[in-house]
Amino acid sequence: QNVVAEIKSRIGLFPNFPKSGVEFKDIFPLFQSPSLFHKVVELFEENIKENHQEVKIDAVLGLDARGFLFGPLLASKLNTSFVPVRKKGKLPGHVVSTSYALEYGEDSIEMQTGSLKEGDNVVIVDDLLATGGTMAAACKLVKQLKLNVVKCLVVIELTGLKGREKLDGTSVYSVIQYE
Ligand code: IMP
Repeated sequence: QNVVAEIKSRIGLFPNFPKSGVEFKDIFPLFQSPSLFHKVVELFEENIKENHQEVKIDAVLGLDARGFLFGPLLASKLNTSFVPVRKKGKLPGHVVSTSYALEYGEDSIEMQTGSLKEGDNVVIVDDLLATGGTMAAACKLVKQLKLNVVKCLVVIELTGLKGREKLDGTSVYSVIQYE
């Protein structure tokens, strides 16, 4: 529990960024402490191993962009592959895409289809769960490919926004929480 408090103490809090009324949570100070960064990924790994012992994880999916910071190290620890989920237009080759609503307008995310097959088990990683819109879109994308989401992993969860309720019962693990 102490280590979780230590991780939390490393999160930068920026009131009114990127706009008035929002307090931005900045995870980058965490990377000034290699041991705490590693600890975050170890907590992800332990959660998977403790709760999903019987499941072989076929890939870790990381969400654009800060999911890319944690995903590859977790994949390496789980001895599995890492697959990025990117904003539209960034990935070459054959991709699947799905669109999701933003506060104003709409955006799309994409994933290359080559490396995964129907029924594969994946975990999805991002830095932060807020309204859950981004994670819900990733889950939708994964369902289009008929993959099975074992877990959504985030460093930070803003619990007051009830993002996990958007995920149709998909299990979420967050290292630290803010109301
Ligand atoms: P959601 O779609 O509303 O759940 O927002 C989550 C997405 O927005 C994630 O990909 C986060 O990286 C990003 N995000 C939202 N709020 C913050 C924040 O305070 N700090 C860092 N990233 C944030």
